[in-house]
Amino acid sequence: MYDYVVNSGRLLVLEVGRDGRIICANGAFRSRYAGFADVRGEPIAHFFSDEDGPVDIEPGEAQKKTVARVFRAAAEGERCLFHAYPLDGHTLLIGEVAESGDHEVVARMGNLTLDMSRLVRDLRRANRDLARVNALNEELARTDGLTRLANRRHFLERLESGVAQARSRQHRLSILMIDLDHFKRVNDTYGHAAGDRVLVAFADLLRALVRVSDLPGRLGGEEFGLYMFDTSLDVAMKVGERLRARTRELQPLGDDFRPSTSIGAAEWRATEDVDSLIQRADAAMYRAKENGRNRVVADR
Ligand code: GH3
Ligand code: MG
Ligand code: MG
Repeated sequence: MYDYVVNSGRLLVLEVGRDGRIICANGAFRSRYAGFADVRGEPIAHFFSDEDGPVDIEPGEAQKKTVARVFRAAAEGERCLFHAYPLDGHTLLIGEVAESGDHEVVARMGNLTLDMSRLVRDLRRANRDLARVNALNEELARTDGLTRLANRRHFLERLESGVAQARSRQHRLSILMIDLDHFKRVNDTYGHAAGDRVLVAFADLLRALVRVSDLPGRLGGEEFGLYMFDTSLDVAMKVGERLRARTRELQPLGDDFRPSTSIGAAEWRATEDVDSLIQRADAAMYRAKENGRNRVVADR
């Protein structure tokens, strides 16, 4: 502290007598404003800038003043904020050189605060946008682009965790494997874009029919899956039958075409893994094809 007071180039210390003359001044003051000359006995007013007029340095309560260009020799824009303290009838002036006035510093600080709050607000906004974009990306990564249903990967992931859950909590779990019938013919007759419209219409129906705890997915081309947690084979068959019947009512391409589906149903067995469950449901779906399509077959 002593070192700072005595040697800091920015801290000015002056003792001024009752007559307004300097009794002593520290090196920082002398080097900065008096070319290192001895300033003892000089009137303090001598060093004040004319523009500012006389500065009241009467001792009394410790006072704090900001004085623009206190000293004649001050560099342009340099100001001094000083405190005047009573000292045995004299006045001790302790001043600190600032490059610009206190009010400017305050104004600058105010602007900084404003800038900071704008920055924080912009950051919050950017973070919210980023979170939205991330959520959207995640959604896109698990969704089929055409039908907006879960894609194959996401469907299998959910089925995998569903099986793990069913195993630990001793729940039932059933799936449907669904394949649109003679879909190649649909494309050949009406064109690929029309085929896409059929896929979308079927996906919308599937989505509308299922419970929130079910997960419909597009597993590839014209193949779909429905995973139903806490569901027996009998209930799964009923869902499959309803889906089959409602699919026949769809008319995505006009009066002369009604799509149909072949559906295989299987209930998870406590000892099996996801692959085995899917294989059994798939085999049932192929039996539905062999038996004339537009039907639901259970793997019992
Ligand atoms: P099946 O009744 O035996 O299932 O006959 P299918 O014609 O449906 O079966 P196949 O596997 O021979 O043909 C499937 C067709 O589905 C062929 C393919 O062009 C069509 N397909 C697959 N993905 C898409 C798609 O994204 N859009 C359209 N429009 N068609 C698709
Ligand atoms: Mg197929
Ligand atoms: Mg097919």
